[in-house]
Amino acid sequence: MNDCLFCRIVKGEIPAKKVYEDAHTYAFEDINPQAPTHVLVIPKKHIRGLKEAQAEDVDAVGRCHLAAAEIARQRGIEDSYRTVLNVGPGAGQSVFHLHVHLIGGRNLHWPPG
Ligand code: AMP
Ligand code: ZN
Repeated sequence: MNDCLFCRIVKGEIPAKKVYEDAHTYAFEDINPQAPTHVLVIPKKHIRGLKEAQAEDVDAVGRCHLAAAEIARQRGIEDSYRTVLNVGPGAGQSVFHLHVHLIGGRNLHWPPG
């Protein structure tokens, strides 16, 4: 989508610090990190959010989580990290291209705010 920020990052039209890419998945540093590791993992396909994901998107959504796990391993935080998928503005979703937050590198509290 031309007017989607994260689609434009995938296309290289907007700069981002890429940390991972494969045929289906793209990951980059969050511009406003909430922890020493704060990476956004997204499907290259435009999916508005988890609410809008369809059965055909099971592979794309699953791949984002597995990529997050791989990035966590690469950073040596595989025993202590969190993946977060905000759904809807009330839960903090501000970009409407599905993304998995990978957050780690510090103590994480529960429940999240
Ligand atoms: P959410 O609030 O769950 O929709 O997450 C959107 C995330 O995208 C936030 O953590 C923002 O800091 C991040 N973000 C917004 N614009 C950019 C950008 N240009 N590059 C990297 N991260 C961004
Ligand atoms: Zn998009």
